[in-house]
Amino acid sequence: MEFKVIRLFVLLAATVKAQVNPEVCRYPLGMTGGQIQDEDISASSYWSESTAAKFGRLDIGGGDGAWCPDIMSEPHGLKEYLQVDLRSLHFITLVGTQGRHADGMGNEFAQKYRIKYSRDGSNWVSWQDRKGQQVIEGNRNAYDVVLKDLEPPIIARYVRFMPVTDHSMIVCMRVELYGCEWLDGLVSYSIPDGHQMIYRDLEVSFNDSVYDGVSAEGLTKGLGQLTDGTWGLDDFLHSQIYGVWPGYDYVGWSNRTFPKGYVEMIFDFDHVRNFTSMKVHTSNMFSRGVRVFRQVTCFFWSDSEWEPGPITFRPTPDRVSQRARFVTVTLGDRTAKTIKCRFHFSDVWMLFSEVAFQSGSAVYNTSMGPGKHPKNPLTVDDPTHKVDDSNTRILIGCLVAVIAILSAIIVIMLWRQVWQKMLEKASRRLLDDDLTARLAIQNRAFAFRHSSLSSDSGSTSNSTYERIYPLCADYQEPSRLIRKLPEFAHSAENLKSSSSCMAATASGSDGAPHYAEADIISLQESSDGSIAAANMTPFTGTDSSLREFPREKLSFKEKLGEGQFGEVHLCEAEGMQDFLDEDLSVGEISESLLLVAVKTLREDANKNARNDFLKEIRIMSRLRDPNIVRLLAVCVDTDPLWMITEYMENGDLNQFLCNLRLKEAPDEDKPEQEEGEDSISYTKLISMAAQIASGMKYLSSLNFVHRDLATRNCLVGKNYTIRIADFGMSRNLYKGDYYRIQGRAVLPIRWMSWESILLGKFTMASDVWAFGVTLWEILTLCKEQPYSQLSDEQVIENTGEFFRDKGKQVYLPKPPCCPDSVYNDLMLSCWRRNAKQRPSFQEIHAQLQENMSA
Ligand code: ADP
Repeated sequence: MEFKVIRLFVLLAATVKAQVNPEVCRYPLGMTGGQIQDEDISASSYWSESTAAKFGRLDIGGGDGAWCPDIMSEPHGLKEYLQVDLRSLHFITLVGTQGRHADGMGNEFAQKYRIKYSRDGSNWVSWQDRKGQQVIEGNRNAYDVVLKDLEPPIIARYVRFMPVTDHSMIVCMRVELYGCEWLDGLVSYSIPDGHQMIYRDLEVSFNDSVYDGVSAEGLTKGLGQLTDGTWGLDDFLHSQIYGVWPGYDYVGWSNRTFPKGYVEMIFDFDHVRNFTSMKVHTSNMFSRGVRVFRQVTCFFWSDSEWEPGPITFRPTPDRVSQRARFVTVTLGDRTAKTIKCRFHFSDVWMLFSEVAFQSGSAVYNTSMGPGKHPKNPLTVDDPTHKVDDSNTRILIGCLVAVIAILSAIIVIMLWRQVWQKMLEKASRRLLDDDLTARLAIQNRAFAFRHSSLSSDSGSTSNSTYERIYPLCADYQEPSRLIRKLPEFAHSAENLKSSSSCMAATASGSDGAPHYAEADIISLQESSDGSIAAANMTPFTGTDSSLREFPREKLSFKEKLGEGQFGEVHLCEAEGMQDFLDEDLSVGEISESLLLVAVKTLREDANKNARNDFLKEIRIMSRLRDPNIVRLLAVCVDTDPLWMITEYMENGDLNQFLCNLRLKEAPDEDKPEQEEGEDSISYTKLISMAAQIASGMKYLSSLNFVHRDLATRNCLVGKNYTIRIADFGMSRNLYKGDYYRIQGRAVLPIRWMSWESILLGKFTMASDVWAFGVTLWEILTLCKEQPYSQLSDEQVIENTGEFFRDKGKQVYLPKPPCCPDSVYNDLMLSCWRRNAKQRPSFQEIHAQLQENMSA
């Protein structure tokens, strides 16, 4: 009852005050408060189900914490957008943006963005500020809200936020719109082009500089300065807005080009309305030849014709005050969808800065009645309708804001409680012996063997599954599983015998699925609902490295290895020079032949693998760094799909180091030991780690999470050059969208942070964790698997200890050659429980460089 009274008062207030006041019209429109429904939030694409459009709510997030478009935003913000449908026209004065924080797990945000808007859903206009600038400065971190005043404001029903990046990178956004409902209902006005006045050698421009419609022999189909809520000052040479030209606030005309003595304006509305009055803000600086119009005649169009009996209104001439003023023209409750008004000159100039329409209470009843916008609570209950500056409005606004904040706090507290319980449960489950037993029963073939039994890892297995975390070249679990398929069995055996370095087989080589796989997947599924499918959009390359290379110009030399997608071959490429960027120096080019690595997609690959292969191509094509392996060209026009990358002569880092021993530190008594073919110095090892850190620094500058950093995924070229490779796992940032062989996934748990394992969260900070393990691998020369004394189950248990942080967690030990300072200050800092306290790649890189020069 009380609320009804307040609403009535608001409506009355709204009918009294016809013009919008942008200073008061700044109410949150419902992204945070929930008045905007999920189905009214859409997007061009999303990375996964848990980063869909509906999670783009400021201060809420949900899902994985924000909306994130697929893979990477196109530079310049031309493609990806988050769209909000407000269900009715709104006057929008402010926008707020935030990145993906997800309680410290996320770090993606839009540093810049653009806004597009539409009133009808088909004509889209790019918002620009009063100086024509379209790009808005966005967020600097993932958590702070950055508010941006829209000057000029927007009148729209649909608004799109479009992240802008200088280079391809991953961005995520949460947004809110602020304003009030646009009760004028005006969707466009058409007027003649404004004129220019020369006043004492000063050029005074009366054009409509923010008009958002079509400008060709007059302005049509848009709104602009006459509806921007800014009223001109008494002296039209000055403006309320800083740094603009004289006459900026006004749109005006001189009578010299209007032989009929009037200027005609046409106003179109969203639907038929019952008009009470029109308020026109005009200048009356008669000392400079400007006066309020002498007469206005308005015609009304309702169904199909201009109705007879236009309304004529003559304001009382004011020859005393030169103040600018609102002139109210009564429109006599006439019904119309379009109004045409002819304003007659009473002097040389006529200047207008604002036009507002007041439709009668019948209009409010129509537009707010049940069934009109049934799904839009904004139009029904929300007091953010047409604004006046009365205290009641402010009070109601404050009340709504307080209620919204309180509800948000309650929701967040509840959510945190649920999250914590879930986490506790999850880690308890991981430690639960029953689980092992249960899984053991489910998978009869499963028999856990400790690493001490690893000697029999070479024994033949009949199972579809195989030990999943061996070291060296054939680490890639999915490929190993794939290789066990009949057609790959042969090459698998060959590879296996060649991997003399393979040290640990922590769980049963009898091939039972690892329990962690099932468990992690189920954890991820339960934490946010579903495992996302690779959201593959068609492969459309514009990058030079995405150019199609003629297959016939590739001749196969030898097989280099086998990856998750298929075999990798060394090839001679003829005429590859034409495909190389100028900045690229790959190997030696003998005449026209260049050695390249060709990665192939197995011909029987399923759709997921094919999509992931193409996705890896898309990712790689956009990466340009001396420490990232370079994609040179592709063969994707026909099957089988191939990607051509630079050839790294020394293969992967794991195998490379595995075959070396550490060069002893120089001893004064002993002659200096040569750095021969089979030894490597500590400095070289650190320089390799520094190169990896440098490559990762580049990736992190793109907000790009690798997810599978390890020595096995780094390639070694000439002179100990290191390039990071293997972007296959990066295809899905937030979800365990791994290859699932017979419903199982395989994860590199020994390299994964506790939060990646327990929560499925992959961030730059979890890449830093993996870097710590990679550094450990390097300094132990890959002679041992990380935590080789622990079984996979124990590794997972240890993860739970990292989570609980009761001092029971086991850290990888200090490698013999590793100085205390590197171990304590660098390696251990990568494994800090709090992701925020882990160093950045920038810091790691700087530290390693310092260590090299020390
Ligand atoms: P996937 O990413 O599909 O698992 P990889 O890229 O890891 O496949 O390739 C498998 C193996 O092939 C690597 O371990 C490495 O030995 C070899 N290899 C891959 N790319 C190159 C390259 N560019 N130069 C030399 N060897 C390579």
